[in-house]
Amino acid sequence: MAVQRRNHMPTTYGYPGDCRRPTVWSGAVQVRYRYRLYPSPGQQQALARVFGGARVVYNDCLLVRDQAYAAGEKISDTEVQRRVITLAKATPERAWLAGVASVALVQACQDARRAYKNWFDSLKDRRKGPKIRHPKPRRKRGHQSIRLTRNGYALHGERLYVAKVGDIKVEWSRALPSVPSSVTVIGEPDGGYYASFVVQREPTPLPACEREVGIDLGLTNLVVTSDGEAVTNPRFYLAARRRLRRAQRVLSRRQQGSANRAKARHRVAVLHRRVRDTRLDHAHKTALRLVRDNQAVYAEDLAVSALMRTRLAKSVADAGWSQLTRCIQEKAAQYGRTFAKVGRFEPTSQVCSACGVKDGPKPLGVRQWTCPACGTVHDRDVNAARNILALGRRERLNACGTGVRAPLTVATGAEAGTRRSAT
Ligand SMILES: [Zn+2]
Repeated sequence: MAVQRRNHMPTTYGYPGDCRRPTVWSGAVQVRYRYRLYPSPGQQQALARVFGGARVVYNDCLLVRDQAYAAGEKISDTEVQRRVITLAKATPERAWLAGVASVALVQACQDARRAYKNWFDSLKDRRKGPKIRHPKPRRKRGHQSIRLTRNGYALHGERLYVAKVGDIKVEWSRALPSVPSSVTVIGEPDGGYYASFVVQREPTPLPACEREVGIDLGLTNLVVTSDGEAVTNPRFYLAARRRLRRAQRVLSRRQQGSANRAKARHRVAVLHRRVRDTRLDHAHKTALRLVRDNQAVYAEDLAVSALMRTRLAKSVADAGWSQLTRCIQEKAAQYGRTFAKVGRFEPTSQVCSACGVKDGPKPLGVRQWTCPACGTVHDRDVNAARNILALGRRERLNACGTGVRAPLTVATGAEAGTRRSAT
C-alpha cells in the first residue's frame, strides 16, 4: 500500500478512529479509520448524485418491501433489487440512476435489506436486545453516505478513486494498518467529506499490569473509578448551547430556500460537529488512560435508551456513555486488556462494598452514606465502582469455569494474539 503518513498530523487530529462498534475476531481487530476528503467542485456534484441515487434506492427498497408485506406477498432480495434498480432505470423518473455507480446502489439495497430484517426479526422476537423500530427513510438533508466494496473504489497513489466520481484528494492523517475491505464515503451537513475505511488492525498488547478497575458512569462525574479517581463530565453540548441556540434562532428567521438560510444552516452544522468531535476526542483520551493503567476495566451495562426517555435525556446524550464504553472496548482489544460489562440490574449503589450488606435504595441526592452494619463511610459513586469491580471479577471467574484461578494471570490479549490461525 502506497499510503504514506505525512507530517500533517496535528491539523487533522480531530478525527481519530470512529469507535463505532468494533468487532474482535481471531486476534485482529476490525476498526474504522476515518480521513478527511477534499473533492473538487465537479467531484462534489458527482458525489451528490451518488448520495442521491443511494438514498432513492434505499427508500424505494423500504417502500417495495412494505407494499409486499402489506399485500402478504413474499418477495426475494433479488426481486427487490431488480425492481428498484434494473426496472426503475427503465422508467423516465428514475432513468438518471443509470448515471450513478451501481455498486453504491446495490450496497444501498443491502443496507435496506438489513435494516428491514433487523426490524422484522425484532418484531417476531427473533432478535436479542431492545426493540427496533421500522427503518426510517433516508433524508435529502443532513448526513449522507455511500458504502462501497472493493469493486467500487480503489487507492490510486495518494488519491481515493470512487466509481463514476474520480480520484479524490485524501488527507492521510495516519497510515492505514491494512488493505481496507470497504469504504464509506460520507458527506456531512457542514460541508465536510470523509472516507471511513474498514481495516484489520493487529493488537499491540501492552506489558501486563496488576491493576483492575471498576468504573461508575455518571452525569456529575463522567467516570468514577473504584480507586476513587474521578473524571468530571465536560458537558460539551451544554457549553455550546448558547451559541447553538443563537445560530438556530438565526436559521429559523431566514427565508426558505435562500442563500442566507443555507449559510445559517451551515453554521448550525459546524457547531454541532464541533461538539461531537470534542466529545469523541475526550472519550478517546479517557478510554486510553483507563485501558493503559489497568489490566481489566469493568463497567455497568447501562440502560441508556431507557434514560433517554426521561428528563435527563439531553444530559445523558451529552455525556456519551455508550461512545465512551465503545472506545474502552476498542482500546482494550487493541492493547490486550480486558473490558467487560456487568449485569444491568445489580444494585451497585445499594450494597456496601466493604461488608456486602444491602442498605436499600437511596435518592440521587445522597452523595455519601454510612454502612449501618460495618460503619464504613462511602462515597456513593466510588462504592458503586467498587461493587462493579467485584462483580466484574466474579463474572469473569465464573466465565472461566474455575473458581480458584487468580484473575490477573489471564492475559486475554496475549491469548487472543496467538489465535490468529483462523484468518
Ligand atoms: Zn458495610
